[in-house]
Amino acid sequence: MKVFCDFDGTISVKDVGAEFFNTFTKKKNIGIVKDWIAGKITARECLTLECSLVRATKEEVDKLLNNQKIETSFINFIDVLSKNNIELTIMSDGFDYYISNVLKKYRLENIKYYSNRLIFYDSNRVKPEFPYYDPDCPVCANCKGLQIKRLKSDSEISVYIGDGYTDRCAVSYVDVIFAKEDFFNYCSKNNILCYNFNNFNDILKVLKEKYPPYLRNENMK
Ligand SMILES: [Mg+2]
Ligand SMILES: [Zn+2]
Repeated sequence: MKVFCDFDGTISVKDVGAEFFNTFTKKKNIGIVKDWIAGKITARECLTLECSLVRATKEEVDKLLNNQKIETSFINFIDVLSKNNIELTIMSDGFDYYISNVLKKYRLENIKYYSNRLIFYDSNRVKPEFPYYDPDCPVCANCKGLQIKRLKSDSEISVYIGDGYTDRCAVSYVDVIFAKEDFFNYCSKNNILCYNFNNFNDILKVLKEKYPPYLRNENMK
């Protein structure tokens, strides 16, 4: 079994990317995000425009990141997975800078992640880089579908966990989907089979029930 998991709003309690842009563009980004959700601009255009409005030093960004928390149930979840030799990979259409920062705070820096890159320049400006962009995908900046296709193997069950619009591209490439909020609404509307969840304990429960051989070494709280 392989597990792929979104970061913002799924592992992190808040959408850290949204917090970052809302704070450091003084909410001038709101119209841009609306255009992206309406499909008027691509995710790459959205992130590039949002970055161009940011004014923040690294110190100011770090201060904001210090207040970010991850879901409590994720700690036990990752622990159970590792006891059962199941790899979890983070798939994010957010940025490396804050993902690595938040993971490090919880000593989870060993978790592999794929995301866009945030480059700081001129003391208070940022720009994005898109190392995992797929020109054939109209949805993603970091194409989650393409990465999962590349990383999964046909002999393993692949699981995806997410909460938002950036998780859409993953659905055709995985066997089991856990969805909440916008992602759950999207799956329901499009008749995509998924499990609704609130926290990672719910996910463990389902995996244990449906795929018991993969989760023999258990440590559920
Ligand atoms: Mg998310
Ligand atoms: Zn994609």
